[in-house]
Amino acid sequence: MPRIRASRSRRISKPDKADNVVEIAIVGAGIIGIATAYYLSVKHGRASVLLIDSRAPMSYTSAQSGDNFRNWWPHPTMTAFTNDSIDLMQSLAVETRNRFNMTDRGYVLATRRADIGELTAAVGSRIDVDVFSDPGLIGRKFPALSDDIRHVVHVKRGGDFSGQQLGQYMLEQFREAGGKRLSGDVTDIRNDKAYAIKIDCEDGIRIVEADVVINAAGPFIKRIGEMLGVDLPVINIYQQKIAFDDKLAAIPRDMPFSIDLDEKELAWTDEERALLAEDPECRWLTQMMPAGTHCRPEGGERGTWVKLGWAYNQRHSEPQHDLENETARDPQFPEIVMRGAAALLPSLTPYIQTPPARFAHYGGYYTMTTENWPLIGPMGPTNAYIAGAMSGFGSMSACAAGNLCAAWVCGRELPDYATLLSLKRRDDATLMAELEKATNKGLL
Ligand SMILES: Cc1cc2nc3c(=O)[nH]c(=O)nc-3n(C[C@H](O)[C@H](O)[C@H](O)COP(=O)(O)OP(=O)(O)OC[C@H]3O[C@@H](n4cnc5c(N)ncnc54)[C@H](O)[C@@H]3O)c2cc1C
Repeated sequence: MPRIRASRSRRISKPDKADNVVEIAIVGAGIIGIATAYYLSVKHGRASVLLIDSRAPMSYTSAQSGDNFRNWWPHPTMTAFTNDSIDLMQSLAVETRNRFNMTDRGYVLATRRADIGELTAAVGSRIDVDVFSDPGLIGRKFPALSDDIRHVVHVKRGGDFSGQQLGQYMLEQFREAGGKRLSGDVTDIRNDKAYAIKIDCEDGIRIVEADVVINAAGPFIKRIGEMLGVDLPVINIYQQKIAFDDKLAAIPRDMPFSIDLDEKELAWTDEERALLAEDPECRWLTQMMPAGTHCRPEGGERGTWVKLGWAYNQRHSEPQHDLENETARDPQFPEIVMRGAAALLPSLTPYIQTPPARFAHYGGYYTMTTENWPLIGPMGPTNAYIAGAMSGFGSMSACAAGNLCAAWVCGRELPDYATLLSLKRRDDATLMAELEKATNKGLL
């Protein structure tokens, strides 16, 4: 099969007709497709790689990310995977003089529970943490936390970064190495001698032939899987965030990403509670709410914005191309998350009655397996691969996911967890039963 010659041009690479035959086609230019393209071209020297997307790069799920990272996971496999990703991000941060603003303040896990034995046992010795149980010390180290917090576990290996900047850097490097992009919607894939990928482009339908196809289509990996006759075991759940201008300076600018580990009932007045309880659609707001409200300052020490999130939605969605059309988008979310976060960070309480004047309410899909582990590796048909099901951890694990998928494609040495993070793990009934029954799946 003829190959495209690597182009060293810096021009935006809009493929011409000769580019209709490539070695590797990647469907999806979110952070995962971009990272995979980067490792294929920059690390393994694959020059004939085409990155296809109907949208601008990094503009769908990857644009909704909170951009937090951590190696705190209930299972050592996910810790090893995210540790590798953080290592790779750190070396890119050094290479780029930290162009993507990687910080290392860690994660603060706060609880009112008396006994944290289960929590610290789950962390084990594989994760570097400090545990604070003295109220005075907690108050001094983490002054914004509510004074009913009895223990804080500070996970050291965590922080945030700009996913957009990281993606942009990898995309530039990909182009430098000869990689190309094509704008269009993949509507069909035929598996003959090579893959024939049908793409609906602005200037008409194009068929691209590729030896290898990689499915990095984010919330649409199932649809791409179906084109290849594979039923991928994934669901999509819409999760929301708000970002707001913290005019009251309620949140210290150096506060680490802070998470409330406790289930809670939201604070309502008796009258509010009675009204909500009467309404079948709102009754759930008076009941016990899941743990996991989280908060961090956004935009560095001189910024004024704050992000809040709470992944409490459990309803499965059919992914919408326009996220504004998602029916799981809850207009009450800004108030609910503010109430939830104020239980951990009482200085937010004034915003419950007088919401911030400037705020953004947004969200996207957690595309996930029920065990909340990703799918990276062979997809079934020869030379078809997947890098997806990245749930709420795709930004932090993009480097390891891209590196791993590229190693599968190029037949290079794989890390110990490679098979566990591939579709193959689903054949291991004992492992699957263990993962499915775990109460903590690391979902945030
Ligand atoms: C609210 C929210 C907060 C999050 N916070 C964090 C966080 O703090 N830390 C973290 O690590 N992760 C976080 N995540 C998760 C992270 O954002 C995702 O896991 C990651 O962005 C997934 O990247 P992706 O490349 O797989 O998908 P996407 O970014 O969705 O990219 C997939 C691309 O495929 C393209 N595509 C799909 N189908 C086709 C087709 N048929 N033809 C052509 N193109 C196609 C789409 O246009 C899209 O651009 C968060 C997610 C959400 C929703």
